[in-house]
Amino acid sequence: MASAEQIAQAARLIQAAQRIVAFTGAGISTPSGIPDFRSPTSGLWTHADPMSVASIFGFRQNPQAFYDWVRPLARTILAAQPNAAHLALTRLEALGKLHSVITQNIDMLHHRAGNQQVYELHGHLREATCIQCFKLYSAQTILGRYMHDGVVPLCQECGGVLKPNVILFGEQLPIRQLQGAQDAAKKADLMIVIGSSLEVAPASDLPWLTKRSGGKLIIVNFEVTHLDEVADLVIHDDASLVLPAILSVYSTL
Ligand code: NAD
Repeated sequence: MASAEQIAQAARLIQAAQRIVAFTGAGISTPSGIPDFRSPTSGLWTHADPMSVASIFGFRQNPQAFYDWVRPLARTILAAQPNAAHLALTRLEALGKLHSVITQNIDMLHHRAGNQQVYELHGHLREATCIQCFKLYSAQTILGRYMHDGVVPLCQECGGVLKPNVILFGEQLPIRQLQGAQDAAKKADLMIVIGSSLEVAPASDLPWLTKRSGGKLIIVNFEVTHLDEVADLVIHDDASLVLPAILSVYSTL
């Protein structure tokens, strides 16, 4: 449980900062009904091995297995709404405090909440690309059809398999997104990590960049992370309760 002192301390860190960056993981979206990977009961890893179904090697060998695994997740994502934690970040941006959001999520909820500057390190479900001829498609149309018939979507031009523009294990991160995120992390005087186990590299290196450049670090996460001991403040509680509470105290300072 977050204490009143922790909430007040977070509000003071925000007040003192000029350039804040939020670094978010799957945990920010669990209150929107989207399961994360590593939470002990609800995590997606408890039901399947993403290293086989959600790797680029697995996808090329057996796209049907990937699509069958991603089907319920995609259905949930397409129906999900931003929650109070996403909306708190939109408010922080409107107040001129938040420079950008760096996210590992593919759910597009930061954009839908209204944040303007979002680095999507692991891609998104807006588009899909043919793995043979690289023709780009709107993912929503393709996924909608797939949800209906369960048939792996193929390219209308060359018949190649279409892959949603999410970064699978074994793939490079999108370079412009990564460089933009690294630059934002280095220049931030405060990074707020929200709902990430910080176990997926290279994304998990970004909080270090902020710390090494002299910035402060707040971590809001249910579970302990390996960066808890270097953080300036750690709150082990639900992000959708903690972030609005911090903003509410901040507005009284
Ligand atoms: P993760 O699953 O490894 O860790 C999530 C962390 O969030 C856990 O430590 C958990 O304790 C914490 N958490 C869960 N709900 C929370 C809440 N309401 N408040 C505070 N903390 C909460 O997620 P990750 O670090 O993002 O890395 C996993 C990978 O999973 C990422 O690469 C991401 O692309 C992918 N992923 C994305 C989504 C999505 O887009 N919503 C969903 C599942 C997985």
